[in-house]
Amino acid sequence: MEKLRKKLHKIDNRGYKAYKDLEGTYKVENFFLHIDHIQADPFANPSRIRVEIPNHITKFEKDWYKLKSRKIAFEDFFARELAKIIKSYSINKNGSGKSGLILIDKPGQEILPRTAVKITDQKIEFRLSIGLPARGRKILGNQALKLLCDHIPYIIKKAIFTFDKNALLKHLKLTDQQEAIRKYLDEYGYICFIGNNSILPRKSGISNKPLKNNQVIPFKSPSSLEIEIPIPHSQPIRGMAIPKGITLIVGGGYHGKSTLLKAIERGVYNHISGDGREYVITNPTAFKVRAEDGRRIEKVNISPFINRLPFDKDTTRFSTEDASGSTSQAANIIEALEAGSKVLLIDEDTSATNFMIRDGRMQALVGKEKEPITPFIDKVKQLYKDLRVSTILVIGGSGDYFDVADNIIMMHEYKPKDVTKKAKEISKSFKNIRIAEGGEKFGEITKRIIKQQSFNAYRGRKEKVDAKGLTTIVYGTNNIDLSFLEQLVDPSQTRAIANMIKYLSKKLVDDTTILPILIDKLYEHIEEKGLEVISPYYKKHPGDLALPRKLEFSAAINRLRTLQVK
Ligand code: ADP
Ligand code: MG
Repeated sequence: MEKLRKKLHKIDNRGYKAYKDLEGTYKVENFFLHIDHIQADPFANPSRIRVEIPNHITKFEKDWYKLKSRKIAFEDFFARELAKIIKSYSINKNGSGKSGLILIDKPGQEILPRTAVKITDQKIEFRLSIGLPARGRKILGNQALKLLCDHIPYIIKKAIFTFDKNALLKHLKLTDQQEAIRKYLDEYGYICFIGNNSILPRKSGISNKPLKNNQVIPFKSPSSLEIEIPIPHSQPIRGMAIPKGITLIVGGGYHGKSTLLKAIERGVYNHISGDGREYVITNPTAFKVRAEDGRRIEKVNISPFINRLPFDKDTTRFSTEDASGSTSQAANIIEALEAGSKVLLIDEDTSATNFMIRDGRMQALVGKEKEPITPFIDKVKQLYKDLRVSTILVIGGSGDYFDVADNIIMMHEYKPKDVTKKAKEISKSFKNIRIAEGGEKFGEITKRIIKQQSFNAYRGRKEKVDAKGLTTIVYGTNNIDLSFLEQLVDPSQTRAIANMIKYLSKKLVDDTTILPILIDKLYEHIEEKGLEVISPYYKKHPGDLALPRKLEFSAAINRLRTLQVK
């Protein structure tokens, strides 16, 4: 601390650049303050610091973070805790630009592995961003001293010494339960579980928080699909389980179909208590596929769905700079399969109609030889039979799917009803002139090799890979548009993807390895070294990162405008 005081005294009132001298490690009270990066001026991105506290001071119990799932929840808890304390704590921000600012990467509704807090057997470390105080561009040394030696220690001490232990235990226990449900689903052949009394609708189209008013209908499973799962720390939990295979969600418009599917989509992540979806658990490889016209496609074998395009364009290695609705949806499915998805989630609201259905009358008018598209309805069974890939499909507009579905759930006034039997009777008694066009087999999933030269992030003389919010990554002279990846939920995931692309392209791509193997390697590496290994500032403050799924990462690669497949 003396060292820091002296330095600050020396640079007080000097130009902002002199703050650079502060970089280094200091002992403040009984922890370590690492000043890793100093902002260029008061208006630039804030400075990065880490606060490290040895475990003999905090007295955290090993049991709170020993299990991997608990470790993620534990770190998540303290990131939230710190964010809460910072918010309620007012600091003198009389200064220019970001003077006096303190930030931590605050988690949203999901509990994700992130770099904001790190616990090991030796220590806990908090990764913060701060605005070093200035008046105009002159250093305010005394205020900086206060910030670093009073405010930061106060906030940290408040978090580690006065946190609500019951709240932590509740958080950890919920994680245990979520893990237990995941395991159960996996063991017993289910792809998704929605606990009774879950609150599925959200506050608004742009909010991820639960809708709260007296008109919200809590979820209640139909008895035929209800199961009971034993979970730790409480009575068994009951709710609706969707088995592997093909499931339709039908029902009138505005009766809650898409809301149910959205909750299922997000169930690949664990949610915090009070979210309403904390007991909605979905197979972790479930992937929402939708139409995405305008996207680029690079040599994807979409022939299971699309064949005989005009001018004999090859669909076993299909490329385009500007995909149509149906070709984009076909490519999205094939790429998801390539990346290892075992559950496809599809909503008619975001699908290309001609990709989803082609009824008997249209077949009679436009013969198969004139239609390049084999609709999804004719492939969905083979998908399960050949590849063991299940589908959950929202469809209110076509009864043709009754023939191919295993389970049919009707949403009526936000309540699910099992209508499988009735729908099957209808499909028997109404004669359908429709002919199946999908053939016997689904077809091959070609695994592609990515060429090294796909990755060129140069923009002029400088490399540029930068996340902009949740849905855009600036990559060299192009942007990667992620706005149709509906299961990408946190801007810190987007930042991680940007870093991961850089990391992958520098260290792993070799012109002989197929994409899913490259991605596996990257994730094994992350598993071993921690998420921060992808940061250019590894071993310092790594930036605010959260782990994306392999599926979203792979999807980002597929949306690179410069991607080249061998
Ligand atoms: P659909 O896909 O069947 O047309 P949506 O899922 O889009 O219907 O839901 C329509 C509206 O109903 C949305 O505004 C949604 O927030 C609301 N909603 C959905 N589920 C519930 C529920 N359980 N309780 C109250 N409102 C709900
Ligand atoms: Mg809908």
